Amino acid sequence: MLSNDSYDDSNIIMITIPFDETSSFKPGSRDGGAFIRRASWGLESYSPILNRDLTEVKFHDLGDLYLYGNQEKKFKTIERAVYNIIKDGKKVVSLGGEHSITYPIVKAVKEFYNDILVIQFDAHCDLRYEYLGNKLSHACVMRRIYEINKEIFQFGVRSGDLEEWEFAKKEKIYIKPNLMDKEDLEYIKSLDKPIYLTIDIDVLDPAFAPGTGTPEPCGFSSRELFNSLYLLKEVSDKIVGFDVVEVSPINDVNDITSITAAKIVRELLLMLG
Ligand code: MN
Ligand code: MN
Repeated sequence: MLSNDSYDDSNIIMITIPFDETSSFKPGSRDGGAFIRRASWGLESYSPILNRDLTEVKFHDLGDLYLYGNQEKKFKTIERAVYNIIKDGKKVVSLGGEHSITYPIVKAVKEFYNDILVIQFDAHCDLRYEYLGNKLSHACVMRRIYEINKEIFQFGVRSGDLEEWEFAKKEKIYIKPNLMDKEDLEYIKSLDKPIYLTIDIDVLDPAFAPGTGTPEPCGFSSRELFNSLYLLKEVSDKIVGFDVVEVSPINDVNDITSITAAKIVRELLLMLG
């Protein structure tokens, strides 16, 4: 995904976020963005499924976000960076990093759009109130988001603490063990709101995405995930941004996970651009 367009000419801006401090099991996702970028250079720019070429999409790659200080300071930096992109009228693509980074991104998106839908693909519900003493852990990211934006849609979820499942039930959260299907999409369409999409790569089975911090068996194949994501074509004008998180190259096998993530990003760029 070589970006040849300038920032001003582009309607989609990509950033990579080298942050993996809250990884609870296997760290390494700080290098996810850089490896996805590198893997993308080996992909064709043309998608036969979408019959579009990346040269038709105006996007600009800002590279790695420079982060320093404690987690709160780093999150402020992420939030400001994303807000600046959104307020320039552009869509934002963020490559993680672990999943906690989606919280400051959603905060920034909400500053501008206010009422949004957050669609999550993930093996985990990420609804813990607190994890290992940290409320900003990747295991709490959807709980924090839910506190500021009630409309969340969780797909592919097959793991979580009992407390999280009870919370989801009590709050009537839209949470499904399967991937998004046509019926889900019809409902999402009917709400007619800006959409932010977050893809935790561990929604895939570890056989398809071994390079991730908390692999969870009994997941989905790459093809199943792509087929679900292609449904979003119908609402692509509503999608204001997306992220792909939890790619951990140091735990990967032959870059399978980075290459798969790069292809997800390519297809979404082609749908959004
Ligand atoms: Mn997650
Ligand atoms: Mn996960």
